[in-house]
Amino acid sequence: MLKRYLLSPGPTPVPEKVLLDMAMPMIHHRTSEFSNIFKEVREGLKPIFGTRQDVLILAGSGTAAMEAAVVNTLNEGDKVLVVNAGKFGKRWVEIATTYGLDVITIDIEWGRSVKPDQVESKLIAHPEIKAVLVQASETSTTAYHPIEEIGKIVSLRDETLLIVDGITSVGVYETKMDEWGIDILITGSQKAFMLPPGLALIALSEKAWKFTEKSRIPKFYLNLKKERKSQLENTTSWTPAVSLIIGLKSVLEIMNKEGLPNVYKRHALCAEATRKGLMAMGFELLAKDIPSNSATGIVLPEGFDGGKFVKLMREKAGLTFAGGQDHLKGKILRVSHLGYHDFFDTIIALSSLEIGFSQFGLKVELGAGVKVAEEIFKNHLGV
Ligand SMILES: *Cc1c(COP(=O)(O)O)cnc(C)c1O
Repeated sequence: MLKRYLLSPGPTPVPEKVLLDMAMPMIHHRTSEFSNIFKEVREGLKPIFGTRQDVLILAGSGTAAMEAAVVNTLNEGDKVLVVNAGKFGKRWVEIATTYGLDVITIDIEWGRSVKPDQVESKLIAHPEIKAVLVQASETSTTAYHPIEEIGKIVSLRDETLLIVDGITSVGVYETKMDEWGIDILITGSQKAFMLPPGLALIALSEKAWKFTEKSRIPKFYLNLKKERKSQLENTTSWTPAVSLIIGLKSVLEIMNKEGLPNVYKRHALCAEATRKGLMAMGFELLAKDIPSNSATGIVLPEGFDGGKFVKLMREKAGLTFAGGQDHLKGKILRVSHLGYHDFFDTIIALSSLEIGFSQFGLKVELGAGVKVAEEIFKNHLGV
């Protein structure tokens, strides 16, 4: 028997109730039955984004919303600033370069967080910058960037947008898009939203909608002005991902029943327990400045074959962790605490790593990580 545990930072496990709701017979999308569901999820997303704006629901993975942000607001030749601190920062560079933007970067060692001053200096040196593109949580390195502080800097400039990839921060952290001065906020379905991959969510500020009036980059499927018009009428321009939207309704009910403050607190506690547990096992965290509450990365010892370890844990023990990408391939391990993940999932993650690492010949004190986690959880049952 192989019981499966999905402990990677996306896709994440889907609650049983959501799976069942998505398995209901297909309905047609040009019906009031669908429109009523769509209306409910559109409203339900606003408090999670911290916005009064419309949150548009697109069929596509998170990258579709990243691309939509760029092609709907900017123009060829525009100067943009990218915080390039990991695999997903690099993706901003690739998208912007594809459309002929003039990209400048703040290159940061993987695992570190950008300092708001670094963003401010670039904006002072290049006042013509049209947009700052950043991840809130850089999932590839498990580092968090100080978005609220960056928002204070960028929002003072009428001619510059702050575009935030919140794919592993929305639904993990309380996020106040309007108050923090975020102009475009993006997320996807397969991380904190506990759904299969396939939905991209995006909201634009008034300032960003003004930019869309001047953007001439060609777009068809991802035309947000057209999409907004449709979604204001509780329908979509193209065939929506009906089952995933039905699943999203169910997810929002689960999140609201728990209460959003409790959702954020649970993520914070599972993250703290994972970090402290892994440190008690003797590991060093990859995120040096601000570790993210979505996933925890550790540095594996020199010579340890991280790729082989992840494969063995998945194939022989049923646990899916994530390894490293690009130059960190084989060198780090990432443990998720995203979405449908509670205290006891964290205990399983730590316990299985203690056993797995021991079997792989590392000197790990059995129970050391689990004990620390239990100490953290013992006063919070029912959170
Ligand atoms: C997962 C993730 C993405 C990628 O989204 P896809 O759904 O694979 O297109 C982008 N940014 C961050 C920060 C992510 O964690």
